[in-house]
This record gives sequence, structure tokens and C-alpha cells, in this order.
Amino acid sequence: MTLLDVRNLAVAYGEVQVVWGASLSVEEGSITALIGSNGAGKTTTLKTIVGLKRPREGEIHFAGERIDQLPSHRIVEHGISMVLEGGRPFPHMSVIENLLMGAYTRAARGRTGEHLERVFRLFPILQERRNQLAGTLSGGERQMLAIGRALMSDPKLLMLDEPSLGLAPKVVEQTFQVILELNRQGVTILLVEQNIQHTLQVAHRSFVLETGRVVLSGGPELRENEHVRTAYLGMATR
Ligand code: ATP
Repeated sequence: MTLLDVRNLAVAYGEVQVVWGASLSVEEGSITALIGSNGAGKTTTLKTIVGLKRPREGEIHFAGERIDQLPSHRIVEHGISMVLEGGRPFPHMSVIENLLMGAYTRAARGRTGEHLERVFRLFPILQERRNQLAGTLSGGERQMLAIGRALMSDPKLLMLDEPSLGLAPKVVEQTFQVILELNRQGVTILLVEQNIQHTLQVAHRSFVLETGRVVLSGGPELRENEHVRTAYLGMATR
């Protein structure tokens, strides 16, 4: 079943249009990736899905319902959660306070304990550091906290904006392992990444965005695609 369906999306900042008729879809239970280089419009697309920006044209459907005119908090209630680039937890709040901030949807409020347990099972280090200020965490731990916070609303769709950015290679590896584990647990994932090598290894389906247009999409076989190899994987044509 298609969980998220983005149709002919056009988005602008004032007069400057940055997304031009992009269409993409996310199947329930999948890891779907939106890849492309700096400034292609990936973050803008995610922000529009979650209602932080309004589309100029196009439609967004989630679980069969049109959501592109809903306020952001209603979209989150529908089960979409976004992890911003860099995680951005509240630095002067403790780990546990940050996590509890994520449990604000109506459905999640009654099940905070259960969701917290799940986050701690996934990230034992957050349990150890539960009373520590978020600002004192390492980059990798901050990323875990950001993902944990998003999970506290028990989303059907988790959208991650460049979770590997700025992290050490070992931590990048762990982050991709977490994404795989979450997906095994049934969370559908939309992943925005510039780390295309890694992403193509975990994604069931990827959409390639270039200057606001989806120019290619496909499964793991995209790794063999001529354009992907030369433009994104730094490989010479064969
Ligand atoms: P990045 O990896 O740099 O985040 P991206 O693919 O996510 O790239 P976007 O952040 O969506 O790209 O940006 C797409 C274009 O929109 C860029 O040209 C960017 O400069 C522009 N842009 C982004 N945010 C704004 C804003 N708030 N106001 C004006 N222009 C913006």
C-alpha cells in the first residue's frame, strides 16, 4: 500500500521556485530515499510534506487522505514525524525532557512509558544519560536523541533529513544500522541523504532530485545506473 503520495509538487520561497513538479511515493513498510546534491530541494520537500511550507502546486496524500492543506500539528497527529538535519535537541534540557517533548500527539500521550522503553531499548546510551543536558552529548548521541524524540510520537512515517551529515564514519554506520532496525520494527522511513553510497544499500526505492525535479527513481539497481555512478558515486563511466 502507498503510505505517502506526493504528486506534482511545486514549492517556492517568495518568487524563487525550488521544487518543480516533483512526484514521489513511499510504500508502507519501506525505506524510501530522496537523494540529490546540495540545494536540490530535498529539505524543502520534507518541510512541505510535514506542513512547514505550503506547496504552490500539487497534492500530498498520506494513508489515503489529502494533507497538504492541513496545519503542521494535524499532519503530525496523522503519524508523520520529521528529524531535522543535525538533530537539534534543546541543549539546556535533559535527555529525558527532550524525549518527553516528542510525545505530544494525542495518541502518544497515553503511551509515553511504552514509547520511552522502546527508545531506551534502541539507544541504551540515552537511558544512561537520561539526566544529562542534551547540549553535552556527542554528535552521534544528539542524532540518537533526535531520532528518539521523533519516535516518541509513534509515527507511521519517520522522515530523516541527512542523518549522517557531519558524523564520524563509525557513527554514520551505526545510524544506518538504526534505520534498518527501525524499519524491521515496522516503521516506514523516508530518508533524505547526500551519502548516496550508503543510502542505495539500505533503500528499497530511491528518488533522485536535481534542481527541484525528480529525474530518476528505482531500486538498488540504481547503483549500476550510469548517471548515478558518474554524478553521485564519483565513478568513471564503464
Ligand atoms: P541541502 O542538502 O543543502 O539541505 P536540499 O536539497 O535539502 O539541500 P533545500 O534546502 O531544500 O535543498 O534548498 C533548495 C533551494 O532552496 C536552495 O537553492 C536553497 O538556497 C533555497 N532555500 C532553502 N531554504 C530557503 C529559504 N528559507 N529561503 C529562501 N531560499 C531557500
